[in-house]
Amino acid sequence: MAKHLIVHLKDQCISCGACAAISPDFWEMDEEGMANLKGSKKVGEQWELDIDSEEARATNQEAADVCPVNIIKVVKK
Ligand code: SF4
Repeated sequence: MAKHLIVHLKDQCISCGACAAISPDFWEMDEEGMANLKGSKKVGEQWELDIDSEEARATNQEAADVCPVNIIKVVKK
């Protein structure tokens, strides 16, 4: 299983809550009402998390697909 990187452009989040609703193991809404990718680290202007299972890839791809402003990316490493 290839590793993937989840990328979140948090600054552009419109606080719709869709990612946290569809993939709560990875996504939550923070105290400011913005989505937070659990366990991610800030790298430049974006937040990143390495994942290594197909299950994690699939659920984060669902989050990416429902994000109305397309600020969640699942990138193959
Ligand atoms: S789906 Fe996108 S816009 Fe909505 S809360 Fe999640 S990251 Fe923010």
